[in-house]
Amino acid sequence: MINGQKVRITEREQAHGLVAQRDFGGTKKWRTCYVADGTGHAMLQAVGDQTIAASIPVHERMEALALIHEAGRCYGAVVRNLVSGELTAYVAKATAIATGGAGRLYRVTTNAVICEGIGHAIALETGAAALGNMEAVQFHPTGIFPAGILVTEGCRGDGGLLKDASGQRFMPDYEPEKKELASRDVVSRRMEEHIAKGHGAKSRFGEHLWLDITLLGEHHIKHNLREVYEICHYFLGLDPSKEMIPVRPAQHYTMGGVRTDASGASPTLKGLFAAGEAACWDMHGFNRLGGNSVAETVVAGMIVGERIADFCDRSDNDVAIATGVVREALAREQARLAGLLTGGGSEDAGALKQRMQEIMTARVGIFRTGADLEQAVDELRQLLIRSRSIGLRSSSPGVNPELVTAYRTQKMIKLALTVAYGALARTESRGAHFRQDHPRRNDAEWLKRTLAWWKNDADTLPTLTYEPLEVAKMELPPGWRGYGAKDYVEHPHTAARQAEVEAARQRIADRYQLQRTLMPYEHLLPPRLRGRNERIDEPLTDATARRAAE
Ligand SMILES: Cc1cc2nc3c(=O)[nH]c(=O)nc-3n(C[C@H](O)[C@H](O)[C@H](O)COP(=O)(O)OP(=O)(O)OC[C@H]3O[C@@H](n4cnc5c(N)ncnc54)[C@H](O)[C@@H]3O)c2cc1C
Repeated sequence: MINGQKVRITEREQAHGLVAQRDFGGTKKWRTCYVADGTGHAMLQAVGDQTIAASIPVHERMEALALIHEAGRCYGAVVRNLVSGELTAYVAKATAIATGGAGRLYRVTTNAVICEGIGHAIALETGAAALGNMEAVQFHPTGIFPAGILVTEGCRGDGGLLKDASGQRFMPDYEPEKKELASRDVVSRRMEEHIAKGHGAKSRFGEHLWLDITLLGEHHIKHNLREVYEICHYFLGLDPSKEMIPVRPAQHYTMGGVRTDASGASPTLKGLFAAGEAACWDMHGFNRLGGNSVAETVVAGMIVGERIADFCDRSDNDVAIATGVVREALAREQARLAGLLTGGGSEDAGALKQRMQEIMTARVGIFRTGADLEQAVDELRQLLIRSRSIGLRSSSPGVNPELVTAYRTQKMIKLALTVAYGALARTESRGAHFRQDHPRRNDAEWLKRTLAWWKNDADTLPTLTYEPLEVAKMELPPGWRGYGAKDYVEHPHTAARQAEVEAARQRIADRYQLQRTLMPYEHLLPPRLRGRNERIDEPLTDATARRAAE
């Protein structure tokens, strides 16, 4: 279905057997790789199979609590066995954080319960590694209401429509060109705006809108959107081929993460790497396009993995530290846990966590204002101070959910502060960060990456610094992205770079040469991964190019 109309599209013969691609929000062509509506499951199984095939040891139920580091060098992590409560120090030449997103900072999120941002937090707590762009938080338009479980953008990609309380389709009124397939930040804002105008459907849990996929038909839904069918069946008790799905935007993706360079390494803490949603690897900027995590996890996994292997191969990266450094790191974490278990504090960790999630949802969400953010920062600081006096009812050191909530909540509140404080400081709107009191994007002053540091354990706020971006090195300098009025403050170098890019496009027909001219970054890839990529219409005939690609 395209724009409510049935359209027949025939896949080319040559495409059979290749990874399938489809339409997703904000994209101009079919570029989102997918496996029905279970892409993540398919990927997990492939990785799981390969791990078993290569006999890679996996240490289950082990949670990293802190990084071991000294003088700007990371030496591994202190890890807690979630069953026995025992702490172990993993000493390593290279340590990689790949702990996913931090959606659980919010009350309503599509993220799994493990996405609490603990990997982000342990990097932050070193004081030596920075987190980048933490205020950039993506909200997905179609979390099922009220639980927030995701129904995939594939529903709209396949032709599903958003409707209001009176059954009217409203997105074409706001976004005539891209309609339901505008980018996620735009659709989420439009939905909230439409609800605020009084068009939301009422329920005992609050107001929501509808996602209508009935027009796709039962066969398509049960085959191509099988998980959507099951989620609706089991969590809402409805059949999406016959009824509309109640939806409202929910937190979905953490664009910010451990700041890395192109190889996935922290530029300030040697031996620390990060990949995937936990990293700020610059794949997404302030506005991730749906489907780009497949690219990020697969491509970063490959490149960063290779770089880590290279790093470990080099003898100058051998670990040579006194055992005392490791012992101290272990003792510090042991003391922290003992303080929670027997310190006699009076604060309730669960209540603090819930309050943090309420604040983040109400004041650091889709629409932000200076006044709300100031209040959020103040309250979160109070929560952080209170979290230093958490007391537990159960003093069991092993399986103890209360203890786990306690130490995670202390870390999560710090992380929430990096989001709220970064958002307060950024007095402009950019991608998913929308300031109602500063609605314009301001490239002249804000085309820069936020870095958040937690310098001392006793601090109640992160320290923010900024890294400018180089317009002169961009293939696509920041411009108008096709939504709303062309109302933004341009960076002083944009016009010159734009002219350079256009001249290069006129001059150079060969796409590889154009790429080398506009994005001369091939040297940043491991040699094995350099070379040409193949397209259906451009098979690699040149033997050298093929060898390079292999
Ligand atoms: C519902 C949903 C649907 C999505 N659909 C798509 C899609 O169609 N296409 C797309 O491109 N992207 C999609 N995304 C985004 C994408 O799934 C994620 O960005 C991606 O899975 C992140 O992968 P990761 O490897 O970085 O982290 P994860 O897959 O989240 O893995 C992190 C792992 O780290 C572990 N961990 C966490 N903390 C610790 C700790 N302290 N110690 C030890 N281990 C820890 C966790 O248990 C987990 O196993 C979707 C996201 C959601 C929530």
